[in-house]
Amino acid sequence: MLIDSYDRVVDYIRVSVTERCNFRCQYCMPEKPFSWVPKENLLSFEELFEFMKIAIDEGVKKIRITGGEPLLREDLDKFIKMIYDYKPTVDLAMTTNAYLLKGTAQKLVDAGLKRINVSIDTLKPDIAQKIAGKDVLKNVLDGVNEALKVGLKVKVNMVPMKGMNENEILEVLEYCKERNMSIRFIEYMENTHAKVDISGLKSKELLEILGAKYKFTDEGFDGSSPSHYYLLEDGYKFGIIEPYEDDFCKKCNRIRLTAEGNLIPCLYFDEAMSIRDSIKKGDIQGAALILKEVIRTKPEKNRWGGEDGEVSTRAFYETGG
Ligand code: SAM
Ligand code: SF4
Repeated sequence: MLIDSYDRVVDYIRVSVTERCNFRCQYCMPEKPFSWVPKENLLSFEELFEFMKIAIDEGVKKIRITGGEPLLREDLDKFIKMIYDYKPTVDLAMTTNAYLLKGTAQKLVDAGLKRINVSIDTLKPDIAQKIAGKDVLKNVLDGVNEALKVGLKVKVNMVPMKGMNENEILEVLEYCKERNMSIRFIEYMENTHAKVDISGLKSKELLEILGAKYKFTDEGFDGSSPSHYYLLEDGYKFGIIEPYEDDFCKKCNRIRLTAEGNLIPCLYFDEAMSIRDSIKKGDIQGAALILKEVIRTKPEKNRWGGEDGEVSTRAFYETGG
């Protein structure tokens, strides 16, 4: 079992299989063009799988594939199948923008994927274009329909931003509710890669908007999920992810692996250790030691909401959120 210095059990790893993306979401990526890590620097799926085996053997029970956009990486279904065949009981999920999901959803299910999280910030094509930098909405919604059709469980992530999609909070929730998909509103997390003038809605503001239409009760937290849950009268639950609040880190059970092999203990900080050389040399024991060291150095909490005005320099497209 992996336990950090604050007695938190770490049993969840998020694997970013590429930092590349077909979107340029304002809250995630720089506006101006920048150069990607060369493809040859990425670990192969076989190499990533070697590390997944180590993590699973050390007690990891949940693996989320993310990016950048994970569906940009060819043969993703083969990576999913490797993990599934090694341990079918691992809770295997993926976070995607859904743009390429229509043609791939069935293959992913056949490989062993059960659940996906999809980012839907708006149901208006022009706002989607503004947020993502291109006309994406039709493909995203087609992708979601396909995912539901092939039996994937779908959760939706929405990042509410002032002057952008703040007047669609109720609509996006209704869209999810009608399709039996849960929704989590994610407070915008400031970082140096995002567009500078974004102002995200905080949970208090979200609750005011939602409270104008619905009655709900505060359900608190559920296990290690960072979501603060609320229950509507009709039984539908929605979540809010509040990184600026203290509770966010208390039950944190996760670490992150980038496509290049950097193992990251916290979403906020730049600190990381590379498992790349160990994995490339086939040094399983060495990679396991690095995993334990990263767990040992996992910080107690992030600094969003800190008083010194410091902004995270960690890129979401690299860590996978
Ligand atoms: N491309 C996929 C997607 O968009 O779902 C997976 C990677 S993306 C980095 C993972 C999640 O991070 C998405 O739900 C996205 O909304 C969220 N995200 C990215 N930047 C964020 C930020 N600055 N604040 C809050 N959430 C952010
Ligand atoms: Fe791409 Fe996801 Fe970042 Fe948007 S949030 S730019 S879809 S990685």
